[in-house]
Amino acid sequence: MFEGESKFHHIPEDSPEHVEMQRRRSKKESSTFGESSLTLAENKSETAASAKEGDLTAEEREKILEQSLGHEREIFLRLVEAEVEGGNSLKRRKKAANEFLEEAIRDKALQQELSESLGISVEDLSPEQVTEGLRNKQLGVECFQKMLKVHVAEFHRKAEGVESIIEKYREEFLVIARAAVKNGYLPTSEEKLLSRLEGIPSRVFDTLEGAHVAEEEDGAISLNIDIPSEAIRHVVYHELVHAIAGKSIATYQEKEITMTHEQKHGLKLRVEAPGEHIITGRFSWLDEAVTEETALHLLGEREDEVGDYQFERLFLKSMIDAGVPEELFRNAYFEDYDTEADPGQRMPAWHALAKKINEVGREKNIKMKDFSTMFKQ
Ligand SMILES: [Zn+2]
Repeated sequence: MFEGESKFHHIPEDSPEHVEMQRRRSKKESSTFGESSLTLAENKSETAASAKEGDLTAEEREKILEQSLGHEREIFLRLVEAEVEGGNSLKRRKKAANEFLEEAIRDKALQQELSESLGISVEDLSPEQVTEGLRNKQLGVECFQKMLKVHVAEFHRKAEGVESIIEKYREEFLVIARAAVKNGYLPTSEEKLLSRLEGIPSRVFDTLEGAHVAEEEDGAISLNIDIPSEAIRHVVYHELVHAIAGKSIATYQEKEITMTHEQKHGLKLRVEAPGEHIITGRFSWLDEAVTEETALHLLGEREDEVGDYQFERLFLKSMIDAGVPEELFRNAYFEDYDTEADPGQRMPAWHALAKKINEVGREKNIKMKDFSTMFKQ
């Protein structure tokens, strides 16, 4: 399939390039709305104070805060004032923006200040009034800074809770996956299972910054803070199935720089789009279908009504029903590219799957390569 493409050079999984790539991945962390701007504001204030060799005046402080947080405040206000019709993602962000205001109103120290600045009693504070106050500057930028601080603290408190649930399911997944390796359902080794599950980062995202709909390129467990806790187990299982998938690592040249990427991950192959200098995923849909089917199996839920990627799984099912054995998909999915083997022998399970699909497809006039473009992802 891609063995003939000379642009890519396959390397073993323990190559320094790949180890470095994994290390960079695990460094990415959870992020929350306003946190980096708050740090920026503090650093700027400190720098200005030490340059002046004394305390800043209220005006000077305000100017710095305005520079550092003004943009954030504008984004926030646009979000909270947005007219939301459709658009699930925007709806969730707007809801998160409202929650931000509720947090500020609930905070004992802050509610006092809000009530005094707005000239209304604590009991009468509402998200609408706080929004209005931010808009007409009755609530100054210093007040917005305090609101951000409350939000950041609240985010980290909630994120800790989500992370501990993720940890619990990570451990559970390992036990279940180990048993599945032993009974032959997962065609991989216990050793690989352990090494691949190690260092898979998990990140919790602030929905205010965006609702994560797409899965992360690097296979991290990425969740939005507003995920219902009962949905976490499913996401963890799905992402960890991705994590234990078979792969191939390749380096390629991009101008002067040598890049490293996973050329095969599960059933997804990355190839250069004809005539374009971008790398695209082929068979992504099939990869997701098998990932989700495997995750559902390990979760112990097999009804077709549940689970994600339902459309993709229907196609997978139609291929299985047509006579392609299910385990051929899993064998190819969990197969690692063998850099030591002779050309043509490096992905035998993948070739066995392709051969069988072509065989079965011939009757129905479908070739495997047609599946690659069936879904644009
Ligand atoms: Zn996925």
